[in-house]
Amino acid sequence: MASLTLNSLTKVFEDGKEQVVAVDDISISIEDGEFLVVVGPSGCGKSTTLRMVAGLESITSGDITLRDRVINDVKPQNRDIAMVFQSYALYPHMSVQENIAFGLEESTTFDNEKIQARVEETANLLDIPELLDRTPRDLSGGQRQRVALGRAIVRDPEVFLMDEPLSNLDAKLRAQMRTELQRLQEELEVTTMYVTHDQTEAMTMGDRIAILNAGELQQVATPLECYHEPANQFVAGFLGEPSMNFFEMTFEQDRLVGDLFEYSLPTEIAANMSLGREVVLGIRPEAVELVSEKARPTDFDTRVDVVEPMGNENIVYLSFPDVSTATAPLVATVSGMHRLTQDQPVAARLPADAIHIFDQTTGRALHTRTLSDEVQLGAPPVWPECLRYQERLCRLRDSPSDNNWTATRCV
Ligand code: ADP
Ligand code: MG
Repeated sequence: MASLTLNSLTKVFEDGKEQVVAVDDISISIEDGEFLVVVGPSGCGKSTTLRMVAGLESITSGDITLRDRVINDVKPQNRDIAMVFQSYALYPHMSVQENIAFGLEESTTFDNEKIQARVEETANLLDIPELLDRTPRDLSGGQRQRVALGRAIVRDPEVFLMDEPLSNLDAKLRAQMRTELQRLQEELEVTTMYVTHDQTEAMTMGDRIAILNAGELQQVATPLECYHEPANQFVAGFLGEPSMNFFEMTFEQDRLVGDLFEYSLPTEIAANMSLGREVVLGIRPEAVELVSEKARPTDFDTRVDVVEPMGNENIVYLSFPDVSTATAPLVATVSGMHRLTQDQPVAARLPADAIHIFDQTTGRALHTRTLSDEVQLGAPPVWPECLRYQERLCRLRDSPSDNNWTATRCV
């Protein structure tokens, strides 16, 4: 059963004479106990969506239902929804104990003993029992965020809404809190909508991701589906760092023709394409292979423009000979175990099974990769045959234990 449903949700702000469509006809069903991450660039309507669900912003049109009950006109305090913000919004003069208890005192008729028990239980869950007598001033950023979470958790709500709750933390703490929040949410089994602009949070935390752009929903799917089977060019370009490579090309006969190169298409892809169709060829940097010399029709002579050594991998910016462009048009991420030097000639292979094709006008995906359920653990091919091998440690999302990490080749 869907626990929370947004049905054609729309928000138009009147900004002076102008109308701003902040949220444009969004429909999403969030399952009971699901962790849905809403992600998109700044200003795409994430906070407005969440605020409408919380009841802090009026709805221009559409419905929000919580367990089959339309809650459009229900007051925020009667929605059984708890929200956590980026700014912790703790009461500075109250102790941690009082801050956590405050929500309960407001929303329940519990006696002091019961409130005390619930606060202690929450503090234990968050591993902060020793902080209960302190005031927010005496806490670190991470501890404050835990207290803010505690205030939401203690109410045992039907839904958690979180708006960039980790943005004020430093990178290391953010990574730690990411895992911790996931663990908590799994343990509490509370339906959660989590807003972020950070694609790492989206990829690692969500059961599913909802990607927004300019108020419009682009795709709702599991993280790996969004990454490998993006619905459109926006999603493909938004997820992944460095970004997917894109080349504007035209379909002619059995190949794509562009300014930089021509690309022969496998017959099964070409069969679905009409002559003269303007498309965008996409390939992720980690799917580009570098080989010592051209051996296949999908190999191209390139030259190393810039190398960014990250340690585990090299990010390689490649240019095509005889074509001058302001920035290197092709980016590849390859194993960090190889020295590459500027101006070194290399052949770049764009494997046919790794390409994406988008419509140039609408951005809609015409062809994507297909996710596999297979778990492969092969030995990496080595230079000179192939520079690239990316073995990633992926947490198998359906594995029951947090510590159960399994190596899978997922790209
Ligand atoms: P996000 O959280 O994704 O960064 P927001 O939901 O805050 O985006 O904002 C979406 C759009 O709505 C932006 O263009 C923003 O300027 C506009 N907006 C948000 N709140 C208001 C408001 N109170 N009045 C007018 N425009 C607003
Ligand atoms: Mg926001």
